[in-house]
Amino acid sequence: MNLSFKNRIAFHYMIATAIIMALVFGFVYFMVRETVFRHLDHDLSFEAEKHSTEIKLTRDSIMFANKAEWEEQEHREIQVNPVFIQLIDSQGRLMDKSPNLKDNVLPFKKEKFGGHFDARLNGKAIRQVQLPIEENGKIRGYILSAISSEAEESVIMRLRNVLLLSYLFVLIGLYFISRFLAGRSIIPVKKMTRTIQRIRKNNLNERVELPRNKDEIYELSAGFNALLERIESAMEREKQFTSDASHELRTPLATLRGTLEVLLRKKRSPEEYEEKIKCSLSEINRMSDTIEQLLLLARLDNGKTDQKESEVSIATLMDDILSRRKAEISEKKLKIYLDIHENGAYSVPHYHAHLILDNLISNAIKYSYEQSPLRVRISKVNDKIRCEIEDKGIGIREEDQNQVFNHFFRSEALEHKDIPGNGLGLSIVKKSAEAIGAKIEVKSVPGEGSTFTVVF
Ligand code: ADP
Repeated sequence: MNLSFKNRIAFHYMIATAIIMALVFGFVYFMVRETVFRHLDHDLSFEAEKHSTEIKLTRDSIMFANKAEWEEQEHREIQVNPVFIQLIDSQGRLMDKSPNLKDNVLPFKKEKFGGHFDARLNGKAIRQVQLPIEENGKIRGYILSAISSEAEESVIMRLRNVLLLSYLFVLIGLYFISRFLAGRSIIPVKKMTRTIQRIRKNNLNERVELPRNKDEIYELSAGFNALLERIESAMEREKQFTSDASHELRTPLATLRGTLEVLLRKKRSPEEYEEKIKCSLSEINRMSDTIEQLLLLARLDNGKTDQKESEVSIATLMDDILSRRKAEISEKKLKIYLDIHENGAYSVPHYHAHLILDNLISNAIKYSYEQSPLRVRISKVNDKIRCEIEDKGIGIREEDQNQVFNHFFRSEALEHKDIPGNGLGLSIVKKSAEAIGAKIEVKSVPGEGSTFTVVF
């Protein structure tokens, strides 16, 4: 059934109450009925037993011994609720009956032998009992005793009708009350739905109103607001990223355009052309590096990478990275110290570890002072592979150390204009580390050097 929330709550509540009420009302009804008839049955049995002592048995008849006296007594007194007595033989033939029965005969039910039951006499409800009359251990007949149960029946009927009616009214009332209450308690949810439907990309700053009670709905609303907060800041970061990326590409493009325009203005010497073309090429290289890195970041964001992740020994990987960067190292006359524990036969995921270590080594070379030492330490601590890359270089200001992993962030870029970079290298390091669950720590003292530690 496609019921609304409040109707469903009301419906379930009604079903539960209907079952409980049916049990309680049923119990009350049967208890009252039982009590009323117990009294009646007790009186009946008493009368039947009393009259069974006043019976005269002959060879083929059963009769009341003192019927004349009985009749006389009946003329004298008005009986409010007369007891009818009747005698029958073992074949069920009528033998004798009390005068108040007149022409009527009490029904005989052989199968109800000894018990009480409801019957009808002249269209009126009676309660009846039948007891055996025995002689020398043999059943000669039965004494039937009956009394009108009209009053009791009508009380019971009334009770039944009252219970049935109140059952219906209570259930219908309860359905509407619980529907109303359920409706009221989901007002905050409705408000929330309206707010959610209103929220679009351009009004992400809207929040769901928090209910006054700190209940489950409050938690849901607060959780939803927190989700909105996260989405909003992710969108904000996205916007920032796009604007930073376009800015990063616009600058070299502007330089390129400027250079070419200046070249076009008048004829230049071949040396000048060569110099400007070299300068333009380096801008183009910078741009293509940035685009390359942006694409890489997008791929890391999507969790898609070109390479199938194979394992490689970290020592081999480091060797490879350092030998590729030989030219830069010798240009700066850096002294490399490689401290590898137990031959470094620890394997790491090839693709991501390469991205991380290559960017860290490249930075260490870039930001080192000339002729300074560059130390790489690889060890295994508590089942984790630890790689420290320590340089003696310009270092990073304390307040920037948390930010260096953000897109396009460059610490004091104007202080070292000659060092090329776009602030994407450490973002790639961070994304790659997240992809393989590695941790990166940075320790740095400005003017002394930095140590980047990767724990795989
Ligand atoms: P960049 O292309 O500018 O090197 P990164 O994302 O690799 O971009 O680094 C971000 C910033 O962090 C750098 O601009 C630099 O200020 C700082 N940084 C990174 N590594 C080092 C290092 N080894 N020594 C000093 N500063 C560093």
